[in-house]
Amino acid sequence: MTRPLILASSSPGKWREFNAFFQAHAPAWELRRMPSEIEVEETGTTFAENALLKARAVAKSLGEWAIADDSGLAVEALGGVPGIRSARYAPSDAARIERLLREMEGIPNRRATFHCAIALVDPQGVVHALVEGVCSGEILTQPRGEGGFGYDPLFWVPEVGLTFAEMSPAQKEAIGHRGRALRALKAQLPLLEKRMGWLGSQE
Ligand code: IMP
Repeated sequence: MTRPLILASSSPGKWREFNAFFQAHAPAWELRRMPSEIEVEETGTTFAENALLKARAVAKSLGEWAIADDSGLAVEALGGVPGIRSARYAPSDAARIERLLREMEGIPNRRATFHCAIALVDPQGVVHALVEGVCSGEILTQPRGEGGFGYDPLFWVPEVGLTFAEMSPAQKEAIGHRGRALRALKAQLPLLEKRMGWLGSQE
């Protein structure tokens, strides 16, 4: 038996990454898309707070288990901007990339980190897992690669010598902020299942 789990996000990029992960590593859950009419205001001051806000709002309005990801890019030379405001930095992926390149013009320190907080809550909004993942890299001076989403073409990871947009989905999952947070979540699932008195295993 699978347990429905609503992904509290309308991002197709996040859906692809979550769905691939759940299918491969947590088949006891059936990940579902949330209805498009649900909108949640992100009033938190941290990635974790916003992930919780989104997961709780969706769980309570649908009466289902929900999972949310709040993520973003923190650029060292810009004091951590755009950070939790990464989605609101400009109206589209292309405009966000253009704005970031403009703000970084002539700045030699290109260091940046991608952050991801994931919250898993029950239908009453009680939190059962809250995990985070980080990935360090550098902001290029022009986009590279066709894959991924968001700021991926600008985010270059030195260990691999590729941008997120040049990596395969498996490479991005192995090294990226979301993959790291998802693996931390996966480690907590068996205990959660035991606590809830569910039978079977996640694998
Ligand atoms: P959220 O939906 O409020 O969490 O916003 C996330 C923002 O950060 C969006 O603008 C995304 O484009 C960006 N973002 C989050 N994760 C990634 C990623 O893995 N690659 C590229 N951009 C990302």
